[in-house]
Amino acid sequence: MTALDDGPQISEALQVLHRVFGYDSFRGSQQEIIEHVIGGGDALVLMPTGGGKSLCYQIPALVRKGVGVVISPLIALMQDQVDALTALGVRAGFLNSTQNPDERRMVEAEFLAGELDLLYLAPERLRVDATLRLLDRGIVSLFAIDEAHCVAQWGHDFRPDYLTLSQLHERWPDVPRVALTATATEATHAEIASRLNLGQARHFVASFDRPNIQYRIAHKDKPQKQLLDLLRAEHAGDAGIVYCLSRASVEKTAAFLVDNGVDALPYHAGLDSRVRAANQARFLREDGMVMVATIAFGMGIDKPDVRFVAHLDLPKSVEGYYQETGRAGRDGLPSTAWLAYGLQDVVQQRKMIDGSEGDAAHRRRLGTHLDAMLALCETVECRRVRLLAYFGQQSTACGNCDTCLSPPAAWDGTIAAQKVLSTVWRLKNERRGQKFGAGQIVDILLGAKTAKVIQFDHDTLRVFGIGTELSRTEWMSVVRQLLAMKLIAVEPSYNALVLTEGSDEVLGRKREVMLRREPERPARAAKTAKAAKTGKGKAAPVEMPAAAAPIFEALRAWRGATAKEQGVPAY
Ligand code: ADP
Ligand code: MG
Ligand code: ZN
Repeated sequence: MTALDDGPQISEALQVLHRVFGYDSFRGSQQEIIEHVIGGGDALVLMPTGGGKSLCYQIPALVRKGVGVVISPLIALMQDQVDALTALGVRAGFLNSTQNPDERRMVEAEFLAGELDLLYLAPERLRVDATLRLLDRGIVSLFAIDEAHCVAQWGHDFRPDYLTLSQLHERWPDVPRVALTATATEATHAEIASRLNLGQARHFVASFDRPNIQYRIAHKDKPQKQLLDLLRAEHAGDAGIVYCLSRASVEKTAAFLVDNGVDALPYHAGLDSRVRAANQARFLREDGMVMVATIAFGMGIDKPDVRFVAHLDLPKSVEGYYQETGRAGRDGLPSTAWLAYGLQDVVQQRKMIDGSEGDAAHRRRLGTHLDAMLALCETVECRRVRLLAYFGQQSTACGNCDTCLSPPAAWDGTIAAQKVLSTVWRLKNERRGQKFGAGQIVDILLGAKTAKVIQFDHDTLRVFGIGTELSRTEWMSVVRQLLAMKLIAVEPSYNALVLTEGSDEVLGRKREVMLRREPERPARAAKTAKAAKTGKGKAAPVEMPAAAAPIFEALRAWRGATAKEQGVPAY
């Protein structure tokens, strides 16, 4: 296409942007994408939530001859989307399972008469032969496949109906297709392209950075209380979303917030659909509502002023985390993404994976997703850098996330790891058949004489009380990180800690273990500083020098006593 040909088309796109949508200018690569699709090209668009993907197919649909067919899994939102477009004077309709035959026939007639600019279709409609024949009889200007990651089995939101979309290209080879998603790991990206036959499509990959979102991942202690503190201190009266893993915790958390004066509503798939719809409508229309929800809530929700997204449980994947947190701050104003995560999350999710249906490959995939999420939680680097790196994008430290603002001290946890692993190993040998969870292992390390621990012959065990240099919280953090690094595992049936291949390397002194020290609470920090000054108590954490300094260099200076001197019995 020559530059001369482009001219009028661009201006037409711009005119539509001004006249129909009332916006001054295109954002990011919108114009390039729109121009490409108007010209009849296929496109794969990777753009973060709130980036403005809709215009990338809506404007070409308005400019090109025929009806733009939009495939979307968001059945519950189709009515809203169509209403919003109608209010702008765009002729739009939808076909999905919520309609009765009369309503459906009316939309079909409009489609055939060319009286629509956009037709939204639920993916399951394409399994129906009548729909395919309908599309044959009308003029389709383009196919837009929204939330295209739903076609990827590798991803976190697979919808089997999306697999039928591969037929679009075979049946209508001349109709341009634009697939859009906010989920963009290399693997998902490649799978979308191959499953949708988008090999020839131009790929448009926007930056995934959401600079106005502050990422924070806290150690989970009393999650509801921590959440309330956060809301009171930083987000009083703000709209926000709180994600919980289970329906029960959604209900409990919503009730807790209401009891404490927060305007909170529950949302999960177990609620009556009318209650769900009413709660969603209130969240969208009223100011300062807090939606407490499972991940059933949020896809396609376009509320610009969500000021915070909080996770009370660990998300199952970085992709999910990114999408969920991406619902904050679509208006570009400062917003918070806060996650509380603890040992129990890791144990629970590993168990869920082990017990999940599907083949070994499926479980491996879930495990890979979880590992990446844990790596993000336990990083000593900038959260944003890690997050973007996950999506294959490079960046520099943001200066705004929790690890940038108070860099966690990295410390040599080899000895601590050996103490934990040695305890697990000894217990296995001494008490065949007995199973010990993280709590009891820590009890033993601390020398706490609990009922379960007291049954042992401590002399034979030789690990009782060898870990008084760390607090219970610190030991739990050590165990959590060992789990994240797979240097220890959880046996699903008992919650018991068991050794892994990696454990052997640590116990055999073939491997060093670098750990992240939790940022301390004020009271404890003061105590540590005092201990460091007087030379008593535990060693002060090593403050990491400027980001680039080699961690191991810095730590070599600090490494002191041998394992034996520090009380680890021989392996
Ligand atoms: P996505 O689907 O990528 O999550 P949307 O298409 O829903 O994002 O757009 C998010 C918001 O940004 C919407 O409110 C939309 O109207 C607005 N928007 C999109 N493009 C522009 C633009 N060029 N100028 C101003 N606002 C825009
Ligand atoms: Mg969208
Ligand atoms: Zn940062």
